[in-house]
Amino acid sequence: MRLPFIAGNWKMYKTMAEAKAFAEEFKKLYGNTDVKAAICAPFPQLSLLVEAFKGTGIGVGAQNVHFEKEGAFTGEVSIPMLQEIGVNYCIIGHSERRQYFNESDETVNLKLKALLETDITPIVCVGEDLAQREKGYQDQLVSEQVENAFRDIPAEKAEKAVIAYEPIWAIGTGRTATPVQANMMCTLIRKTLIEMYGDETADKVIIQYGGSVKPENASDIMNMEEIDGALVGGASLEPLKFIEIINF
Ligand code: 13P
Repeated sequence: MRLPFIAGNWKMYKTMAEAKAFAEEFKKLYGNTDVKAAICAPFPQLSLLVEAFKGTGIGVGAQNVHFEKEGAFTGEVSIPMLQEIGVNYCIIGHSERRQYFNESDETVNLKLKALLETDITPIVCVGEDLAQREKGYQDQLVSEQVENAFRDIPAEKAEKAVIAYEPIWAIGTGRTATPVQANMMCTLIRKTLIEMYGDETADKVIIQYGGSVKPENASDIMNMEEIDGALVGGASLEPLKFIEIINF
């Protein structure tokens, strides 16, 4: 039984003061124990959020991490640093990082392996762009992204990961994949996991949809059979909108 999991991805939004104000308001609104919730925030805001959400059940996530424990990697943040703060989740392979910061299937695989050695749950993002969808390449591309991300990762580790299907053409565009399209891709992702690991392991993995999820479309998306959750960008910046999505 997979509990629905809805995470906000703040991207590069919110100062400390804004994050604090959000946390104060949001924790008063959140009381839905049937849905897991988390906020993935910029690095400087993580400590503040961990502190603010203590005892509420609301998780806190980072949006990226380096796969090495330490080293001369200017500007990077390591997994032990996130563990020390008490972070619960870490997004890896987001399309914006693949597009603007040279994230590749290989680095996603290294990050996934490293995170699965810890108690931080990785949220692995996959998804095709508009040109790939128009050519009908989305199935092949997304299953390859999943295979490459999970390469050489054993079943007992893989089952702890979360996967987010985020079609690039639906991110920040207001253009949502239809619930049927999103469900088909989440089904394909689970099929890929079944081929790699078998039913029992594949069954445990939470698969989210992300891309213009809003209060108005959340229930249609969340009620699809194979969609276990959502990764929410813009609409997670406002406590009232985000709580409406969680209470779909
Ligand atoms: P939007 O919800 O703003 O489209 O962003 C989706 C996303 O990229 C979440 O990671």
